[in-house]
Amino acid sequence: MSQHSQLDNYIVLRGLGKGATAKVKAVRDPETGLVYAAKILKFQNEALTARFREVVQNEMQSLNRINHPNIVNLVHANESGVYTRKNGSKYNCMYMIIELCPNGELFDVLFQSGRFDERVARFYFHQLIEGLEACHRAGVTHRDLKPENILFDENFNLKITDFGFAFSIEGRDGSGFLHTHLGTEGYMAPEIHARQPYSGASVDAFASGIILFIMYSQNPPFSKAVPTDPYYKLLSNREEKFWQLHSRNKPSGHYSAEFKSLITDMLALDPARRLTIEQIKAHPWYNGPIASAQEVG
Ligand code: ADP
Ligand code: MG
Repeated sequence: MSQHSQLDNYIVLRGLGKGATAKVKAVRDPETGLVYAAKILKFQNEALTARFREVVQNEMQSLNRINHPNIVNLVHANESGVYTRKNGSKYNCMYMIIELCPNGELFDVLFQSGRFDERVARFYFHQLIEGLEACHRAGVTHRDLKPENILFDENFNLKITDFGFAFSIEGRDGSGFLHTHLGTEGYMAPEIHARQPYSGASVDAFASGIILFIMYSQNPPFSKAVPTDPYYKLLSNREEKFWQLHSRNKPSGHYSAEFKSLITDMLALDPARRLTIEQIKAHPWYNGPIASAQEVG
């Protein structure tokens, strides 16, 4: 019996979170004393192990290409690790050692702070877009952007994480389009739902539009898959009713004209008409007044 569980030589301190594929724990490197997040994928059966190997490869390939303050830093990965529980029993796993984001997920920060005002939403949105731009510049499409995969470090810097679904440019077919049907329902671009080929950057722009909407309103914009969702129809037809319905239960549910135009154009049905990251950065809403780091920390 030992006081702590161990992941190879790392000392396991506490649980941090759980996703569809992995458990994430805070661990300490006994040699340096530094604390990290370990994303652990437990071996269970052969089919799952093959899938996990893909996840780890995706994350490693993607994260090794990107070095940016708004993307988590991958320190180390091991595809044949051993987890030792306090009672001495062991299991085999793969794991990645990632920089620790002790301030948790975007949702936690959202619900602690109450509804973001536009200046605060803009502050975080800038970091999301900067991080995303760095991904795309490196030829990486994230494909699973959602609030659970957006974390905050000790200084409340936003960090995009979970590149398990990510796609690096080498794997593209000759036409430069992707085909795989994946992601998370509420954040998935309509062309993925429709199982059409898609270009990477535009699906991440779509998910960022959903996230921005949630950051500001604290509610998802749609309840069903786009484009059949009735709210989506209202939005894409530029009907004011969409915004009225989303203001109903909000004491100060006001959306500026610039915000409405940015969201509508980021969520365009046709990916060719959807705003690109460059166009998002040039949009009047993006360039409006912004909260200072002291205000949000
Ligand atoms: P999955 O691929 O299973 O979704 P994630 O990489 O998204 O795994 O991690 C699952 C959860 O663990 C995240 O949503 C978050 O709450 C937590 N987590 C992941 N990485 C970190 C980190 N670096 N620091 C702190 N918490 C983390
Ligand atoms: Mg995740």
